[in-house]
Amino acid sequence: MTPRRRIIVIGGSAAGPKAAAKARRIDNNAQVVILQKDPDLSMASCGYPYYVGGYFDDRNMLLSTTTGVTRNPLFYLNAKDIEAKVNTEVTSIDPKKHSVSYKNIATGETGSLVYDKLVIATGSVPSMPPVPGTDLQGITTLQSMKDADFLRKVRDEGKIKKAVVIGGGLIGICSPFWTGSWQNLWKTMSAARARTSSPRTASQPF
Ligand SMILES: Cc1cc2nc3c(=O)[nH]c(=O)nc-3n(C[C@H](O)[C@H](O)[C@H](O)COP(=O)(O)OP(=O)(O)OC[C@H]3O[C@@H](n4cnc5c(N)ncnc54)[C@H](O)[C@@H]3O)c2cc1C
Repeated sequence: MTPRRRIIVIGGSAAGPKAAAKARRIDNNAQVVILQKDPDLSMASCGYPYYVGGYFDDRNMLLSTTTGVTRNPLFYLNAKDIEAKVNTEVTSIDPKKHSVSYKNIATGETGSLVYDKLVIATGSVPSMPPVPGTDLQGITTLQSMKDADFLRKVRDEGKIKKAVVIGGGLIGICSPFWTGSWQNLWKTMSAARARTSSPRTASQPF
């Protein structure tokens, strides 16, 4: 019997699971493993502003297939024969030994795995402006499910009086949804909108 080659994918948001699923399709015999730092898998980041803004309440919708099945490790195992380890941060890669070391953030357990092929799909990090105060309470980016959970909690507490959005790109433009009351932010956002190239966002409110 042909030995199973092991394909490891680091990162389990958008690109990682896609790469893992493609690997499974092209090599039915391979052992495919996703190592994902976050507790969630395959998050629909595009929906964060709408979840935060209260356009829907079920957090699980950000993590589900169109038929409502949660894309968790059990789903990946049963539907795609892919082993997904969540809360698992890759701490080092040794290309000579073809091995990765990881740490389970929840339990502290460490381990290593050898690979035949390695895919790195660890995404990007938002850039914080180099100004003092960005570490203060109530200041956040909107990049991860953790950020979305934080902002949704803040919104549900109903104590927000003013919100300032720094950045007039796609995510900044979506940000009026964060509070669920974009009208309050319309003036603040206008300047940013005027500089965008999208005809929809540059003309009228949603
Ligand atoms: C609010 C918001 C709205 C968006 N809206 C749209 C949209 O409308 N249309 C659109 O096309 N795109 C949109 N995007 C962009 C889209 O979500 C990203 O392009 C996409 O998520 C990138 O996927 P990725 O897998 O490359 O990286 P990421 O989504 O950043 O995922 C990388 C993953 O790798 C994990 N990771 C990092 N380091 C390690 C490590 N050492 N070990 C293990 N795991 C690790 C991280 O925890 C993370 O889960 C939006 C993004 C945001 C944040």
